[in-house]
Amino acid sequence: MADFDPRPRRSVAFIGSECYPFVKTGGLGDVMYALPRALARQNCDVKVILPRYRCIPWKYQEKMIYRGEFHMDLCQDGRSFYVGIMEYVWDGVVYDFIDNEEFFSSGNPYTNLVDDIPKFCFFSKAALAALNYMNWVPDVIHCHDWQAALVPVFLRTMFAGTPVGDAKTVLTIHNLRFQGVYNIPTIQYWTNLPDYVFNKDALKQGYEDANMLKGGLDYADRITTVSHTYAGEIQTPFYGENLDAHLRYHSGKLRGIVNGIDCDIWNTWTDGRLAVQYDITNVLDRKRQNKRALQQELGLWQDDHVFVIGLISRLTDQKGLDLVNAILPELMDGHTQVVVLGTGDEHYENAFRYYEDAYRGSVCSNIMYDEGRAHRIYAGADALLVPSLFEPCGLTQLIAMRYGTVPIVRETGGLKDTVQPYNHYTNDGNGFTFDRYDAGLLLDAVNRAKTLYFTNRWCWDEMVQRDMDKDVSWDQSASQYRDLYLELKP
Ligand code: ADP
Repeated sequence: MADFDPRPRRSVAFIGSECYPFVKTGGLGDVMYALPRALARQNCDVKVILPRYRCIPWKYQEKMIYRGEFHMDLCQDGRSFYVGIMEYVWDGVVYDFIDNEEFFSSGNPYTNLVDDIPKFCFFSKAALAALNYMNWVPDVIHCHDWQAALVPVFLRTMFAGTPVGDAKTVLTIHNLRFQGVYNIPTIQYWTNLPDYVFNKDALKQGYEDANMLKGGLDYADRITTVSHTYAGEIQTPFYGENLDAHLRYHSGKLRGIVNGIDCDIWNTWTDGRLAVQYDITNVLDRKRQNKRALQQELGLWQDDHVFVIGLISRLTDQKGLDLVNAILPELMDGHTQVVVLGTGDEHYENAFRYYEDAYRGSVCSNIMYDEGRAHRIYAGADALLVPSLFEPCGLTQLIAMRYGTVPIVRETGGLKDTVQPYNHYTNDGNGFTFDRYDAGLLLDAVNRAKTLYFTNRWCWDEMVQRDMDKDVSWDQSASQYRDLYLELKP
């Protein structure tokens, strides 16, 4: 039984473009899954509204229940569009999928902006219309990233005066780099929003573009982002992705709340994908067994004594992979192995393939998306690299710590907020960090980790146990979101 929560019950509609396990391409999918569940445990009534993409696995599709359908106006030519609602209830959370063949039939949630802009204009409006149709008016509508950023804009314009118009809105930025920018006539055509929202304080950007995220930031009652440090960083030109001035203007309603991870999925004691399960009492021994099994699975030299470094990441510029590429040959000292798992930009994929070939038995590049392998790398590696150029929150370092794998990170965004650097005088901290975006500093951080691992295993092992013991669950952060909702609807 959950503990009694004395705070009043609040209802929240989550609106976003992906959610594990139905469809996930990155951290947003994890948050859309874990945060609603954590809120449901804290006396919230939560509905998650998602597109019904065709790529959602059939085992979920077949369990969805038809909840209703209607037609909705969308674009300037007055054409009306079918909106179906399919419902799936799971673990205290209601998932409502917006159905429309024309928009959601491609194999992937995101294709290209030409298709994605109309798709998410439709989705944002249909989600609000569906709430009215279902006669379910939440206290708060919590939207995520640019794909749902038009929700506050629709809500305060076309939906003002309708039942759902009473809701307050929170817009969370998971990654400011993606904003949904297109020319004004196209977005105006697909939304039929009034001219005044295309002014320079709201959607308009530059001379002729409309920026969906920018509009949402203007109309939302609160803006959150996924770590305290990132909330500060995005107000500076370097990290602000051309919206820093806009964010500074709205800084009074901007707040950072760090992400957590779902500790049921990421549980070393029950994780059926691992060679052997473990907990904090037997981690040192069992992690060695997982390391062996990983080396065997990936065709690496099998040796308990080498230092295995994992890297699980989208292979894009954001993730600091140019630094990794620059130092990889220098890591190869006969006592170190590197395991990469990721897909993304071709030049990074090819670079890691090259290194696998050049250092056979010591480097393994898995250019693929594979959840099971990710779990086994978290369990079998000694350290995990996250040297990002920018990182709103980052989940991989949290998962790594939960699995007793020491993170080596750059001090940016959520990485800075969640990894306390190791201090060899006091023997505390959770990982190794470096500040400037510089390959030499990354190499230095890895070497500091290796030095501790090879020369002072006692302290290393203590850090492994400290990491496993750290609270990286959603409980605290969900509580902060809950307080935010209460602040909006006292
Ligand atoms: P981002 O959202 O920027 O991609 P995060 O660190 O927030 O990065 O989240 C990444 C999530 O995706 C983690 O759960 C990580 O384990 C997972 N992931 C990334 N790449 C892969 C992959 N190739 N195979 C399996 N899981 C992956």
